[in-house]
Amino acid sequence: MSSSSTTTTTTPSAAPAPAPTTSETYTGSCHCSRFKYSVTQSPPLTDPSCEVVECNCSICARNGYLLIYVKDSDVVFEAGSEDEFKKYTFAPKHAIAHYFCPTCGTSCFAKSTDPGFYGDVKAVNVRTLAGFDLKAVRVKAVDGRSV
Ligand SMILES: [Zn+2]
Repeated sequence: MSSSSTTTTTTPSAAPAPAPTTSETYTGSCHCSRFKYSVTQSPPLTDPSCEVVECNCSICARNGYLLIYVKDSDVVFEAGSEDEFKKYTFAPKHAIAHYFCPTCGTSCFAKSTDPGFYGDVKAVNVRTLAGFDLKAVRVKAVDGRSV
């Protein structure tokens, strides 16, 4: 796999500095590449302190999501835009929109439909990202089915 991910370390501009934060930017896409994006995640996906969420609820199980939660501003589109995704919500709450490519069907993101509830956060399906070893991530099982 070729990857253009880079490791960056934020340099404190003023003393006293907090512990340096390491982040990594991953490139991702849907299968047909209509959508291409980069996602900056801190800590890096394979860092022992990073947890990737695997949920057993009806939609996550079907889509095979492995999710991280990042700010909208940490997702940058190279091709396509957020508005061009097909969005799926379901009863009774329609609380979460599931973003998939209308061409190839890849499930890339999920996002709250309520701007007041984590409105600036995207759940990113790390299965759509490149540049890391999926087997090296720490997966946290979440029992969404019981919620
Ligand atoms: Zn696609």
